[in-house]
Amino acid sequence: MSSALGGPGMSHRGARPEDGVRDMIIISDIDENGININLKTRYKEDKIYTFTGSILVAVNPYKQLLIYEQKDIEEYSGKKISQVEPHVFAVSEEAFQNLKNSGVNQSCIISGESGAGKTETTKFILQYLCSVTNHTSFWVEQQILEANTVLEAFGNAKTVRNDNSSRFGKFMQVCFDDSQQIKGCIVQDYLLEQSRITFQSKNERNYHVFYQFIAGADASAEFREQFFVQPINTYYYLSQSGCTTLNGVNDTKMFDRLRLAMNVLKIPDQMVDGIFSVISAILHLGNLTFEDVEGEKSDLTSKDKEILDMICMLLGFEAEPLTDSLLYRQIQVRGTVTSIPFKVQEASENRHAMAKALYSRSFAWLVDAINKCTNPGQHESRFLGVLDIFGFENFEINSFEQLCINYTNEKLHRFFNHYVFAIEQEIYKEEEIEFAHITFTDNSPCLELIEKSPRCILKSVDEECRFPQGTDKSYITKQHEAFESHPCYIKGDRRMWEIEFGIQHYAGAVTYKVKGFLDKNKDTQQDMLFEMMHNSVNVFVQDLTRFQDLLGVKLEDMGGRQTISRTTSKKPTVGDTFKHQLNALVDILTTTNPWYVRCLKSNTDKKANVYNDKEVLTQLSYSGMLDIIRIKREGYPIHVPHENFLEKYKCLTPNLSPGDEPRTLSTKILNLLDLPKTEWQVGKNQIFMRNSVFEPLEERRIIFI
Ligand code: ADP
Ligand code: MG
Repeated sequence: MSSALGGPGMSHRGARPEDGVRDMIIISDIDENGININLKTRYKEDKIYTFTGSILVAVNPYKQLLIYEQKDIEEYSGKKISQVEPHVFAVSEEAFQNLKNSGVNQSCIISGESGAGKTETTKFILQYLCSVTNHTSFWVEQQILEANTVLEAFGNAKTVRNDNSSRFGKFMQVCFDDSQQIKGCIVQDYLLEQSRITFQSKNERNYHVFYQFIAGADASAEFREQFFVQPINTYYYLSQSGCTTLNGVNDTKMFDRLRLAMNVLKIPDQMVDGIFSVISAILHLGNLTFEDVEGEKSDLTSKDKEILDMICMLLGFEAEPLTDSLLYRQIQVRGTVTSIPFKVQEASENRHAMAKALYSRSFAWLVDAINKCTNPGQHESRFLGVLDIFGFENFEINSFEQLCINYTNEKLHRFFNHYVFAIEQEIYKEEEIEFAHITFTDNSPCLELIEKSPRCILKSVDEECRFPQGTDKSYITKQHEAFESHPCYIKGDRRMWEIEFGIQHYAGAVTYKVKGFLDKNKDTQQDMLFEMMHNSVNVFVQDLTRFQDLLGVKLEDMGGRQTISRTTSKKPTVGDTFKHQLNALVDILTTTNPWYVRCLKSNTDKKANVYNDKEVLTQLSYSGMLDIIRIKREGYPIHVPHENFLEKYKCLTPNLSPGDEPRTLSTKILNLLDLPKTEWQVGKNQIFMRNSVFEPLEERRIIFI
């Protein structure tokens, strides 16, 4: 971690938040309010970036700033982080230089709530890397940038918080060879939101690609015919929310861009057609209406027969098995397969599940296609990874998705704690100074409650999922019993015992409603759909069977790994798979040198030049920023090599005997000045100080000169 001493923005009288300093580490006694004032002061001058040591804070400006141009890239290229104004390019450069000089893999961990600017930040980092590295690999760089176009079309959507909200997490590893040339990229995706495909809240949209597809079809009769495209308002999956367009975005243009991106990524035309066939088929599936037959069965209505024909043509299915799979559930009883009719509600739900399975497999297919195209091959091992993943969530109603999201954040928080402490303490150890008094809140107990086998929350859900009579209620009852005495478990109000439980997270307490937990954790069996896909005459649809439902994990990836059993009776649950993915992520991050970008939202109305103190303060409390500063403060934030110290402060004590070593002399200076002994220490090579010593020292020095 770099020393804060002497960077631009330093002030001799002691930095104050009102000054809007570039590095908040140098402000003594800063609290959340101070951080807020400092950030706000800078924000008003369009300085959206601020350091806290080597951690970058970014406040979303909600307006185009001219700070990401080629000239800006050049300005940061080759500079040390301590010499420049805070910027995402400064962090990118430092990480890149570190990779180059040390050979240790690097990672940029970007956090913040929805709409805070994580995805934009990720793109700036990629833009920077693609510009400053040796330009012999132009084609690969284009492919990496275009991968984002495809991922955003299929994985982003308009929500009330963000017009371009990522509904999945991603880790992009940019790979380099020995001459700093980009060799390729590997993308790992996490937990694509499924519910959005069949249901959107008011003023939100389905995934962008659906609207882009329809807008594209509007321009070509031939395309409309090929994919059986209808006007947008005839589709149930696109018209529930009353919102089909985006401010300032032209979906037709975006569709052209998407097609171009798929081209750059070398996705064959036949497969592109396959993808659009599936997109169209999903929309038609959503329009099926089921009729009740005597409260026992269901049937398709007469207008559905036509829709069915279109779906069959689009997906390369036969009409009869498709009809069967829409109206009957197949179960195995003692080896023989029996069909049981769906009741009307079940049939409707089953159809939604089919749509979700088709979409999530297509998404997984695309990630795989991107990786096949951009993968650098086995021998390239050096990488700079960028993690753009969902931040901590605490909504009015929290469900299984929020549990997974907050679990992710607990995991990253522990990693972060470890990083901050490990690095600082390593320096103290090397320098042989005392550091026992640094304390921090370890979130391991909370993580163990969620994930540690054999008894943890994820296991409780899993067990109940495998239990034939299991329900959300039976699950919560058992879970309450098992964990009521755990310090991070909140059993809550007696009247709510059957419907919710709480967890004391590092970022605050969250109440989870258990309705739907079991269904969401189960990997919905779509065996009949799977079989039809397998036999499909559409090569894309057939190829989708390589992927597992829900999480987009490739089946072949999951073999061999111990945590997941492959036997059909123990199919991995969503929780299982996610835990496995997260552990793999942390394993990778552990081998890297991490860099942090904390993104903050200046206001919830997506407005430029509006800074809402309350909003920012809430995010600051989640972000762990204060912890970082506290850790720094409880430790010794200012590290100065003996030689520099002597040079700077010898003027304060004229009677030094010149023959002594710098270390002895520095110690003498501090002793003579009668500064509080607890606030500084002498290491082997450096003096370690807190601000309470550093500031008076500086003041005296200024008076002297
Ligand atoms: P997140 O990924 O954290 O949910 P995004 O990165 O999608 O958030 O940002 C949301 C929106 O905020 C973007 O679509 C863009 O309009 C705006 N935004 C974010 N960062 C910047 C930035 N650095 N400059 C200009 N606008 C930004
Ligand atoms: Mg995003």
